[in-house]
Parts: sequence; structure tokens; C-alpha cells
Amino acid sequence: MTKKLRLNLSLFFCAELCIGFLAASVHAQQKPADHPAVSVEGERYTPLSIVTRNMGTEVDQTGQFPPHKVIGNIYYVGTRTLSSYLIVTPEGNILLDSTYERNVPVILKSVEQLGFKFSDTKILLGNHAHGDHQEGDALVKMVTGAQVVAMEEDLPALRAMKPGGKEHPVDRVIHDGDTVVLGGVTLVAHLTAGHTRGCTTYTTVVKEKGKSYNVVFGCSLRAPGVITPAIAAEFKHSFEVVHALPCDVQLGDHPAQYGMEEKYAKLKAGGPNPFIDKATCKREIAVEEAMFHAIVEEQGKGQ
Ligand SMILES: [Zn+2]
Repeated sequence: MTKKLRLNLSLFFCAELCIGFLAASVHAQQKPADHPAVSVEGERYTPLSIVTRNMGTEVDQTGQFPPHKVIGNIYYVGTRTLSSYLIVTPEGNILLDSTYERNVPVILKSVEQLGFKFSDTKILLGNHAHGDHQEGDALVKMVTGAQVVAMEEDLPALRAMKPGGKEHPVDRVIHDGDTVVLGGVTLVAHLTAGHTRGCTTYTTVVKEKGKSYNVVFGCSLRAPGVITPAIAAEFKHSFEVVHALPCDVQLGDHPAQYGMEEKYAKLKAGGPNPFIDKATCKREIAVEEAMFHAIVEEQGKGQ
């Protein structure tokens, strides 16, 4: 990374800081209800507890989590509560989720600490069109020149995302079932709408120690406070889709969705790769599906 690039990034970081904090406080104001409650595997969840678990504090959202290898060519480069993944290939790298714009320097630092170059980012993917996952896309594009890929159904929400007045870049529009290919890596994009119209679950197959593993980069299945018939139809289809996906390694747009901290502690302790865990593949789906039905039921009683 050149000094000029670092200076540019610093300037952006300063200029965007206020806007970033504003976005964070708007997010904080949209607190969901503390009801209904569901229990899954002995844990009690409410809409509020799920958001609190996902987002943590402001410090969690912006603080670097130790960057680490997840499996094969997949690395975690996000913050404590906002996921960002680097998929390394011989022809350059794919970044999934820029998170908040003010986190871009944190992601850059993590990528470089792992020994990779941020400037080698060739493709930028987004999980879904919410600021905590894709606000930084324009800055990543400016710094790396990466091709920005987006699911068609999320385009209106992405185009409304303009940190510091910058247009949201979109270089390639994809549809359900399309693939993103680079350097021998293939990611399949599955439309799993509901949380946003274009919420995208990416899947790929990686090799580690001679074995192949199915990796699922899950999109949030968290239902909004009010579920319209259109949103309900999207979720029902999405639950069917995610249930059917082959999965050995479940990842998510927030690390709490797959217990990253506990798994990272196991990783540091040695032994088999803790991210290979079929039980985790089903857990978040079970929580969100139960919550979806509980909210629909509660809504029905209120009518
Ligand atoms: Zn979201």
C-alpha cells in the first residue's frame, strides 16, 4: 500500500467520521421490540436480544477482531460484530462486505496483517443492502478499483446509500443462481430475500487437508417488526432455500450468528478446525424461523 493511498484513506476516514456516527445512531434508534420471545436449544431470544447480540456496542461494531483463517482460502477480516470475509485466489481476491465506511481502514489493516494486499481486491460482494454491511462499498471501490457485484433486487436500497454524497457503485448486476468466478473460485449467489429484497446467501466449496467442504455465507434471516404478506412470502421461500443448502461451514453477516468468538478461541487452542460444524448450519435458521412465526402469530392476535 502506497503512502498516498494511506493518506487518501485517512482523509476519507476523517471526513466520513461524523456521517458514520450519524448512521450508527440512526441504526441504534431503530430498536426492535423485546417481544415475542422464542426458545431454541435452551436459549431465549426476542427481536431486541437478537439485534443486541448481532450489533454489540459502537466499539464492537468498529473494533478490529483478530483477522484469521476460517478454512481453505477464506479469511475473516471484519470487526467484532460486523463480518467481512476475504476469499483469496491466485488472480486476486474477493471481499464480501465492506461494512460501515469508517470500518474500511480496519478491514484494510486486517487484510494486510494476514499478509495480503488490499489493492489485490478484484471483486467486492455485498451480503445485503443495509449500511452496516455495505456502506463502505464506494470507498473500497475508490481504493481498490474492485468490480462491485450486486443482486438486482437490492439495487434500489443500494442506490439510496450515499455516504458523504458518493454514489453507490454497481458494476455487475446478478440474479438468483448466478455465479461469481475468480482464480478457480466459484461462488453461487442464492436470493434469500425477506430481511432485504435482495438479501444474498453465497455458497462455495473449499478444500482443506484433501477434503471438500460446503461453505455457506448466510444472509440475515431476521424478520422486521411488521411482516407484510409480500415479506412473509419472501421469508417462506428463503427458509426453504437455506434448509436445502449443503453446509459444513456456516458463516454469517454478523459473527454471533455462527459463534465466531467461541470458535476462534477453539482455533487458538489447536485441534480440529472448529468452523467445520454442521450443528451451526441449522441453529441460526431455527432461531430466525421460530421468531418469524412468533411475530406473524403476534401480529395476527393484534388484528
Ligand atoms: Zn441488515
